[in-house]
Amino acid sequence: MRAGLIAASRSRVLRGVAERSSLVRPVVDRFVAGVDAPTAVATVHRIAGERLVTLDLLGEDTRDRQQAERTAQAYQQLLARLADEGLTDRVEVSVKLSALGQALPRDGDKIALDNARGICSAAAAAGTTVTVDMEDHTTTDSTLQIVRDLRVDFPWVGAVLQAYLRRTEADCAELSGPGSRVRLCKGAYDEPASVAYRTRREVDASYVRCLRTLMNGAGYPMVATHDPRLITIAEHLARQSGRGRGEFEFQMLFGVREQEQQRLARAGRQVRSYVPFGREWYPYFMRRLAERPANLAFFLRSFVSTT
Ligand SMILES: Cc1cc2nc3c(=O)[nH]c(=O)nc-3n(C[C@H](O)[C@H](O)[C@H](O)COP(=O)(O)OP(=O)(O)OC[C@H]3O[C@@H](n4cnc5c(N)ncnc54)[C@H](O)[C@@H]3O)c2cc1C
Repeated sequence: MRAGLIAASRSRVLRGVAERSSLVRPVVDRFVAGVDAPTAVATVHRIAGERLVTLDLLGEDTRDRQQAERTAQAYQQLLARLADEGLTDRVEVSVKLSALGQALPRDGDKIALDNARGICSAAAAAGTTVTVDMEDHTTTDSTLQIVRDLRVDFPWVGAVLQAYLRRTEADCAELSGPGSRVRLCKGAYDEPASVAYRTRREVDASYVRCLRTLMNGAGYPMVATHDPRLITIAEHLARQSGRGRGEFEFQMLFGVREQEQQRLARAGRQVRSYVPFGREWYPYFMRRLAERPANLAFFLRSFVSTT
């Protein structure tokens, strides 16, 4: 079922139908903080007293250069707004390079790099940071190269590594140097066995190995998981490597295990919520359904009851 939902997340036809339908909106709102910046920023005000936030303008896989440029401009305006509202000491942004042109057939990497540079300059002016999300494995080399290029001028740019990829332990070792910010997640795409671990046990074991490398390194680990077992292991590894509470952070998705996010924050841990917003919610939402079959039942029940 997971593979089917992830395949459906790539369907442009389904995406068009779903994003135009108002019927599914109430269910989508559990995971997405509104369609526009004012609504998202209102949500950020509500949670930023307790937690840190990374704000994501939804959109990915664009094949239109102008759309990629509009997305970069929208991020720049968002960052200016966050600065005006005094939020940039607690709120950063996350970006997907495929929304900035990486998937364009000609010069995609260069276009995405230029657009990402514009966002990083705006973040620097606003006094905050940017984390570059990781997408499917065909983009990993390009994404890591763009992160390296960005870090020449903006050394605080965060990278994301996915524990389900076989290569990730080596990438963690490479990216665990001083000043490096690395978000470690399990990975949300349907990847072949040639490049990825396919069983939960293997993925979790890889997550622990990768996390140990990051915790023992000189960078700043961002532990992106809702998995209670991995959260306990992360605390243990942080203690073992002598890290104080400000020297790593937990990250979780808006709408997922909200009570656990509050519990950790109230217990004095650094917790950052990943808050997505925008009209192009469909692929993001489908990946959230794929992660948990109960979400699909919830979605279908709401869909049936509103039709
Ligand atoms: C802050 C953040 C940023 C991320 N960025 C990326 C990225 O750039 N690239 C990428 O590939 N992936 C990204 N992910 C997604 C990640 O790869 C996983 O797909 C997702 O986090 C689920 O894995 P898990 O570690 O929570 O463990 P799981 O084993 O999937 O889940 C553990 C428990 O968490 C709860 N849970 C998990 N997911 C859901 C859900 N959707 N709905 C309800 N409950 C749920 C359930 O109780 C579940 O039993 C990100 C995740 C987070 C938290």
